[in-house]
Amino acid sequence: STSPQPAHGLSAVVRKKLMGYVGFANLPNQVHRKSIRKGFQFTVMVVGESGLGKSTLINTLFNTTLYSPKEALPPHAERPQTVSIQSISADIEENGVRLRLTVVDTPGFGDFVNNDDSWKPIVEDIESRFDAYLEQESRVNRQKIVDNRVHACLYFIQPTGHSLKQIDIEFMRRLHQKVNLIPIIAKADTLTDEEITEFKQRILADIAHHKINIFQAPVYENEDEETMAEHEEIVSKIPFAVVGSNSEVKTPDGRIVRGRAYPWGLIEVDNEDHCDFVKLRQMLVRTYMEELREHTNTYLYEQWRSEKLLSMGIAQDPTVFKEVNPAQKAAEERSLHEQKLAKMENEMKMVFHQKVQEKEAKLRQSEEELYARHKEMKEALDKQRLDLEEKKRRVETGRPLSPSQDKSGVGTVNLSLYILFLY
Ligand code: GDP
Repeated sequence: STSPQPAHGLSAVVRKKLMGYVGFANLPNQVHRKSIRKGFQFTVMVVGESGLGKSTLINTLFNTTLYSPKEALPPHAERPQTVSIQSISADIEENGVRLRLTVVDTPGFGDFVNNDDSWKPIVEDIESRFDAYLEQESRVNRQKIVDNRVHACLYFIQPTGHSLKQIDIEFMRRLHQKVNLIPIIAKADTLTDEEITEFKQRILADIAHHKINIFQAPVYENEDEETMAEHEEIVSKIPFAVVGSNSEVKTPDGRIVRGRAYPWGLIEVDNEDHCDFVKLRQMLVRTYMEELREHTNTYLYEQWRSEKLLSMGIAQDPTVFKEVNPAQKAAEERSLHEQKLAKMENEMKMVFHQKVQEKEAKLRQSEEELYARHKEMKEALDKQRLDLEEKKRRVETGRPLSPSQDKSGVGTVNLSLYILFLY
């Protein structure tokens, strides 16, 4: 190996030499040539209580010493109280195909007295990686996008032989919509074959009961028989019962293999009759690595992204456009407001019109009254004039009226009142 390279993400990248065939050289058969030139980025997360063989299995899977053997903590050593997230990256190359492998470890998970919130920092880490990707996608220059999203999560189940524990169910329920879950039974060499078969059935029943989605390797139509058989064989082994080992042992027939030696015999990691390691590696590396990346990108990330954008009020999906689009909502509110204003205006117009009519009617009435009064006065005036003329004639002819016949005085008063009224 060479000197560490500049950090990307959480940790430095080192160059590692493979000690044997791993299988990602098969990636070209899984994807387009373009990606081969650029190299691949693959991030796998490992979750499970400490001591379940996570580091050993990663080393076994990628045939490299990504993790050096851990020293056991002294009995009274201070243990951390929270789940931490640690990631290690390595550039590895096989038959000219470059892979930047990142392993995200979650030490502390399930190790405390109270593990209720153990899943939380892990969800946060996965989401912050989605965030980082979204941020890169939103940039103008999207040429050099670094994909640090978690493409697969190996969940280590303790080989109890019973069923899933509360912490297992809680973790998977919280994570299954955000990451490709691959459940595995750790240290399967501690269980008998019968125990493993029964344990697997109970685990699958629990997973189904709690409606947890684990990664389903896809099957395509018109696939050849060999591929279909391979697919079926892989699927039939889930949850993979695995054994990890970084040491080589000699078999009775003289072969040197990776395995674990016991007084009662030898467990070979790469022997399909001994454990499901080969099938797990096929799922994770040789056959479905690209599918894991693809599913992360087009389904898990996409789902998270639209939820995130929705929560920020930006609609992505036209079917939910109406409920949440703020522009649409504003337009609706504006139109409602305008309708309300128009209604108010109409009402005001009607009231105004009514008031005008009332006023006009009133004016007409007073006009009529005035006219009637005027007519009455005019008649009285005419009568008074006639009386006066009559009086004048009598005076001229020498026949004055008796006081009872003379009403001109009253008429004069009436006339003055009328003039006053007019002004
Ligand atoms: P981690 O804390 O989960 O990373 O676990 P390690 O990988 O450090 O392994 C803890 C101990 O379990 C070490 O002594 C390993 O040698 C041992 N171990 C790892 N894998 C297996 C396995 O598949 N079977 C058995 N029996 N022991 C294992």
